[in-house]
Amino acid sequence: MKPKQLQSELQDLRTFSNPKQNLEQYATTPLLATKLLQVASVEFNDIEEKSVIDLGVGTGVLAIGAKLMGAGHVLGIDVDADALEECKENLEMYDPELEVELCLMDVVELIRRYDNDEDEDEDEDEDEAVSVKRKDYVWPRADTVLTNPPFGTRRKGADVAFLAAAMKMAETAVYSFHKTSTREYIEKVAVKKLGAKSAKVVAEMKYGLKNQYGHHRKDEVEVFVDVWRIEPSSSKAKKDDDDDEKDEMFEQNLRDLAANIEELQLSARQRKDKERNKNSRKNSDNRKKW
Ligand code: SAH
Repeated sequence: MKPKQLQSELQDLRTFSNPKQNLEQYATTPLLATKLLQVASVEFNDIEEKSVIDLGVGTGVLAIGAKLMGAGHVLGIDVDADALEECKENLEMYDPELEVELCLMDVVELIRRYDNDEDEDEDEDEDEAVSVKRKDYVWPRADTVLTNPPFGTRRKGADVAFLAAAMKMAETAVYSFHKTSTREYIEKVAVKKLGAKSAKVVAEMKYGLKNQYGHHRKDEVEVFVDVWRIEPSSSKAKKDDDDDEKDEMFEQNLRDLAANIEELQLSARQRKDKERNKNSRKNSDNRKKW
């Protein structure tokens, strides 16, 4: 699908009818969504026939865009049931209905529990019923994760929690929007804290944020945003690393073994030499006696 056509399709979608400020519900504009999807699809081949997760799906613009661009299985995750309801209505506008699986999940809370798992093991008062143990939790996985995360202005750390979760879910790449003013910080978080293999800004855009919550003076504020492509440290690369380590250990063992054998041979030769010397000394003594 051509970018112009995609953008006009996305224009017809409904957005949050009652946006919730505490969840930082700002719909991605069709222009921004189209840009992300175009880069992901055309430059990196991360959409067509790929499984996709839209983290913080809201009313579904990224998930629906991905589906229209030929994605395979698409899963949308959000903590807000009302948003999921509106997303469902958007999916039903299509004939046949667009297939996007929807899931209610608090990503920030899950990451908090996951990261604190070891501490919680020692916590006596822990509420067993709601606790998710690292070993028990299987993260949903997809080739590509798309997210326009909360920027963390309302719930501190929500932006990093979203990135952390996205990286646990992505097989190949995470695409995420972040304010350009946080560029250095995001790179540090992605690479140093979350162990990304790479983190690159693949597009720079202007985001016209509507004054939907009434806390800005103007009707619309312009925010500069980066589209990031982040590669998680892949399990395959890790496996290769592990294999390299095993090969290295095997070779070291062989070297040790060879050195041992050499030592043994050396000492056997020395022993023989000694014996030979002893015998020849004995012989010459005997000869002397004769
Ligand atoms: N993807 C949509 C919405 C982006 S706004 C779009 O591009 O238009 C951010 C979304 O993250 C909102 O839908 C909000 O409900 C969701 N969200 C905020 N906190 C969340 C959490 N802790 N867990 C899951 N989703 C959350």
